[in-house]
Amino acid sequence: MPAPQPNRKHESKIPRLVSTLLDWFLQNARNLPWRHTHDPYAIWISEIMLQQTQVKTVIPYWERWMRELPTIQAAASASPARIHKLWEGLGYYTRVRNLQKAAQQIVEMQYSHLNSCRRRGNESQTKKKPKTPHVVSYKFPDNFDDVLALPGIGRYTAGAICSIAFNQPAPILDGNVIRVLTRVFGIGENPREKKTNARLWQIAEGMVLHASRFTHHVSRPKARTRDEDENEDEKAYACSHLNQSLMELGALVCTPRNPQCEICPVKKLCVAFRQNRVEDLPNLGKREAATARYFVAFVVERNGRFLVRQRPAGIVNAHLWEFPNVEVAAGILPAVEPGVPPGGKNADTFKPVKISRKIPGGKMPPSMAGGTPATTRLAHAAKQLGLEPHNAKPLCTVKHSITRYRITLEAFHVRFGGRSATTPKPPAQARSARPSENNGVWLTPAKLDLLAFTSAHRKILGALKT
Ligand code: SF4
Repeated sequence: MPAPQPNRKHESKIPRLVSTLLDWFLQNARNLPWRHTHDPYAIWISEIMLQQTQVKTVIPYWERWMRELPTIQAAASASPARIHKLWEGLGYYTRVRNLQKAAQQIVEMQYSHLNSCRRRGNESQTKKKPKTPHVVSYKFPDNFDDVLALPGIGRYTAGAICSIAFNQPAPILDGNVIRVLTRVFGIGENPREKKTNARLWQIAEGMVLHASRFTHHVSRPKARTRDEDENEDEKAYACSHLNQSLMELGALVCTPRNPQCEICPVKKLCVAFRQNRVEDLPNLGKREAATARYFVAFVVERNGRFLVRQRPAGIVNAHLWEFPNVEVAAGILPAVEPGVPPGGKNADTFKPVKISRKIPGGKMPPSMAGGTPATTRLAHAAKQLGLEPHNAKPLCTVKHSITRYRITLEAFHVRFGGRSATTPKPPAQARSARPSENNGVWLTPAKLDLLAFTSAHRKILGALKT
């Protein structure tokens, strides 16, 4: 596809826009912990955490990560269990696995480079004893293409790291920036379309290139202290500030709903504001309809221990822990109201429902099963997991969203006593004496706390403790 042609109208607006945004950022930048550093590792961690996640949620996670894994080598050598625990609750766990892969890649490449340099040095000085590079400080790459080649880093993240940490004129374009640019420049085409997307990248690039030529940008953002900036020339960070100002304006002023145009620093330059098109932009086309999904989970307790299992690799929330659960067909619902036992308000025990036919795919329409919808749902889920729900009690209902899915997860508490002949058997999948990620393990509440759970199952664990 040919590169989009520069638009003269856009070009003429860029100098004023950049200058206004830089001034505004210096006065209005939020005091965020990663804004107190130019360390590319720290900025990288913040950028990965901020993908799909709000700033206020990220702050404590970022602070804890930087305390516990303050260097690239610490991130590279941490156990998978530790990195998942540090990420627990942030969601989109592929991010943290890619982050660790990238850290390992940086360490491996620099370690082998260092070793080969040392080997060459030793060959020419054969009398000297060879040294092992055991204490090495690994550096985050500062070349845009090298950064982009790392796992989990796309064009936006590479641009953010290179501009914020190294003040390179690398553009950025994420949801916030798209919103600001489509509104300011009055772009009515869908930004997801290739041509429009390329045009937006071109505008973003034009802006950051212009910022890189700025010479009078000498004050510091309020978020940074004089001590931190001692001997540091803030005009050297105009690219960083320009990119951050676009993100900041999108997050604080030019928000998706109810943007604060009246106090917006660029309203005089904004086409959408002038033409009363703010609500229409960006034009993201039709949203995909939300799909409801229903799951039933069992908190199975035996002698003070609980059965949990680890999700296998290659699926959503891989490597995280959860209580045994199964998806049930939407037709089997509606869901039980929280706090109402299956079978009605007066029922406190639950009798198994006879299920006579096996349904392909594990989903069963209500017409094919006996009992009330609630008992059917519970019995169906229990059978899938090899449980006999004699005394299942409702524990909680958790509602959450993953992408376009609106998920309802009903949790039931099932207690098994000692090993008497009348005691119902624990789930078939958990009878093995040897724990493994497939058949689940029995753990005390204290041990459960050390595992990284999916957010929904962490809420179930919370409900169990109350
Ligand atoms: Fe956004 Fe309104 Fe500012 Fe335009 S004037 S950039 S629509 S907040």
